[in-house]
Amino acid sequence: MASDLAVSDSVFEKQQQLLEKLARPAARSLSAYNAGLAAEAVQKKYGVTHVAKLASNENPLGASPLARAALEADACFSAIYSDASSMALRDALAADTGVAAGNIVIGNGSEDILHMLALAFLNPGDRVVTLIPSFGLHEIFPRMMGADVTMVGVNAQQEFDIEAWENALSGPAKMLIFSNPSNPVGCMLNREGFARIINAAPADCVLVIDEAYFEYCETDPEYPDSLRVLADQPRPWIVLRTFSKAYGLAGLRVGYGLASHPELVNLLDRVRTPFNINRSAQIAAVAALRDKDHVRESIALVSTQRGRVATELTALGFNVASSYANFLFFDCGRPATELAQRLLSFGVIIKPWRETGYENWIRVSIGNEQDNRQFIDSLKCILAEGAA
Ligand SMILES: *Cc1c(COP(=O)(O)O)cnc(C)c1O
Repeated sequence: MASDLAVSDSVFEKQQQLLEKLARPAARSLSAYNAGLAAEAVQKKYGVTHVAKLASNENPLGASPLARAALEADACFSAIYSDASSMALRDALAADTGVAAGNIVIGNGSEDILHMLALAFLNPGDRVVTLIPSFGLHEIFPRMMGADVTMVGVNAQQEFDIEAWENALSGPAKMLIFSNPSNPVGCMLNREGFARIINAAPADCVLVIDEAYFEYCETDPEYPDSLRVLADQPRPWIVLRTFSKAYGLAGLRVGYGLASHPELVNLLDRVRTPFNINRSAQIAAVAALRDKDHVRESIALVSTQRGRVATELTALGFNVASSYANFLFFDCGRPATELAQRLLSFGVIIKPWRETGYENWIRVSIGNEQDNRQFIDSLKCILAEGAA
């Protein structure tokens, strides 16, 4: 019986003290990743019929039918280990991107590759330069290794501040990490800005370009063709992409890195867990890669809906950053966590930002028409209550 396993208060206390003493200081002081809430929990707690889950930038169209069929066909092989080298997926990605399979690393989500990069390169005291506001793991994983993280802000227009980046990179830096388009702001670093930041980096700096939202702006003429720009420059680099967003496979966890050199892939292979990509993820990703129509449809939906939601938010008087990705970032003019809490009771999950200086900002994912409607209507209700 569970009660037999209960520990006394004094043992509990003793354990607590020992864990605090034994843990690495860098691990002990880490802040937790601010993950979106689960729809089921919100549905149950607030008794709402439909939850608009708009906090994790998921694809409202879901996975490609090709990926679903591939998953079903493989279901009876769950007893078999996955391919530790993800060879079929790396070959498919090589054909898709033009990067050799030996220069491709696969992760249990691209967050796994960010983790491997931190493990492989960062010593205590190393300096890492990244963005603020930022994707949390760009800061958390370097800090986990004891690195010093310099956060470069965006400018008043919520765009990349190229000069601030150049200044930040004028000193030593082991690694730079930024997402383009940026999460959470959604701003896009253009070709010129990209070249300037890359060229400003010290000669021995590892360049980590997180292109989680690549598919949403790859056809924009101003979006840098990073693989081409990086190809002939001497600093080690890696471009990260993912199946979680435009491909709609977030729950399966699969991302990839396109690296400057096979030795970079070898290094990451040594620090990763051997079977980090499960069978289903590998199989579904290969199938999803074949369904470009599904990706195009997903992009088109986001493009139309994002415009509508932005117009509504602007009409409500909010300052909305222009976005090239599948979410919008806006200043809601009051503590975002309180507004997020109110929205939960309407069955709407959004992401209140927590970083210093952004406590009034919200990131909302672009969902399907119904979910976006639910978000805007609920927001209007809350604002009307406030005015009454
Ligand atoms: C969503 C996201 C990721 C994580 O993607 P996974 O492949 O699901 O781990 C990485 N970077 C950025 C900037 C993201 O927004």
